[in-house]
Amino acid sequence: MRLILLGPPGAGKGTQAVSISEKYKIPHISTGDIFRYNIKMQTELGKKAKGYMDQGLLVPDEVVVEIVEDRLKNQDCKAGFLLDGFPRTVNQAKALEAVLSKMNTGLDKVVNIEVDKDILVQRAVGRRICKNCGATYHVEFNPPEKSGICDKCSGELYQRDDDNEKTVGKRIEVYVEETKPLIDFYREKNKLVTIDGKNDINIVFDEIIEALEGNSL
Ligand code: ADP
Ligand code: ADP
Ligand code: ZN
Repeated sequence: MRLILLGPPGAGKGTQAVSISEKYKIPHISTGDIFRYNIKMQTELGKKAKGYMDQGLLVPDEVVVEIVEDRLKNQDCKAGFLLDGFPRTVNQAKALEAVLSKMNTGLDKVVNIEVDKDILVQRAVGRRICKNCGATYHVEFNPPEKSGICDKCSGELYQRDDDNEKTVGKRIEVYVEETKPLIDFYREKNKLVTIDGKNDINIVFDEIIEALEGNSL
């Protein structure tokens, strides 16, 4: 299965990606996670990306495309992959088509998760992430058993620098301008399935699987 998860910041892409990649045994490739890892490790890539991320802007296309192209050549992507947060511009989507066609393959489906703006802001601002294993929680909607501590590994939870109201607002604007056009781009290619992301996490997951496997609800 070769999939893209599309949706605004805070829609629940990362949360769903964990379950989808487990179910289909495909690697979860999050460009945001790759950048955050590089920032933590203070690599050149991390230094390049940080300024854009802190402002809620997109990292330039050529930087992102190169990373994804390298990652897709990895052996573990042979049987499929799940891209989360890429592509985010029409340019990136076209570059991805070229990369996949060079590899003699293509996409199966693009899962578009839709959520209203007011909920997105609440979700992103309340998001907490485990420093150790990367698991995602929400202070209100998906809290850990013990506040500030990861259920899975007892790691410490933190809030992303860009998950404040101001930057989230900017990221949503950037989504509308640069990423939303991808909905039409993939609809025209008959790849798009749209899921209502405002339901509970488990319901959203069930609806994604039903949409991918073609069963009617
Ligand atoms: P994205 O990767 O699209 O930015 P995340 O998966 O990180 O989004 O989710 C954003 C925040 O919303 C997280 O704190 C997550 O726990 C929470 N969340 C995700 N899906 C849901 C849902 N269906 N209902 C309520 N909260 C959710
Ligand atoms: P979210 O889904 O909550 O917006 P991500 O973790 O996907 O968060 O992305 C965080 C930031 O990383 C983005 O605001 C952007 O600066 C950068 N980024 C991630 N993926 C891309 C991409 N495909 N193109 C450009 N910038 C990206
Ligand atoms: Zn953890």
